[in-house]
Amino acid sequence: MQLLKERILKDGVVKPGNVLKVDSFLNHQMDIDLINEIGKEFRRRFPSDKITKILTIEASGIGIACIAAQYFHVPVVFAKKAQSINIDGEVYHSKVESFTHKRVYDVILSKKFLNSDDHVLIIDDFLANGCAMLGLLELVREAGAGIEGAGVVIEKGFQEGGKKIRGQGVRLESLAIIDSMTDDSLAFQE
Ligand code: 5GP
Repeated sequence: MQLLKERILKDGVVKPGNVLKVDSFLNHQMDIDLINEIGKEFRRRFPSDKITKILTIEASGIGIACIAAQYFHVPVVFAKKAQSINIDGEVYHSKVESFTHKRVYDVILSKKFLNSDDHVLIIDDFLANGCAMLGLLELVREAGAGIEGAGVVIEKGFQEGGKKIRGQGVRLESLAIIDSMTDDSLAFQE
């Protein structure tokens, strides 16, 4: 998505540890006009009328998923991160290792909001090593729901996430795939 790539080049900042900061337009301050275009682009890439729910993970995914959902006319449900939990049977549960915070979270989703009748599109801001996405896929499988696909705004193509997710046969659409990044250069996959 050209508009997104141009914005990453203009305002993205590469930090140590392979972290790209996009907090001036995507996941702290949010440029709603840009995210609106991102929402339209996800709809263009996932035109299926079977999708019944958009699933994301707190916190950064929520705003993006909500704006995208206006083009799908389905609810957004988000997995919650919990430090430690007593699993009481009312929630689906998986574990996610955070790329940015380097720790493991339990993630939970109420069984009330996802079931075997659902067809799910997963949306998130970044795909790095794939832990967040794998955790979300596990929740969908626990629910017995169908996976229509996964959309991410920025995939860091030099990390393993994309390979893992596509390797599971999931249709993954990334609006910008970064092939390499250093302090003074950033290259996208064509
Ligand atoms: P993964 O689980 O794929 O390793 O990482 C995905 C999650 O980590 C995303 O939900 C995102 O919040 C965060 N993340 C991973 N890489 C980056 C990055 O380069 N920049 C930012 N801002 N967040 C990232």
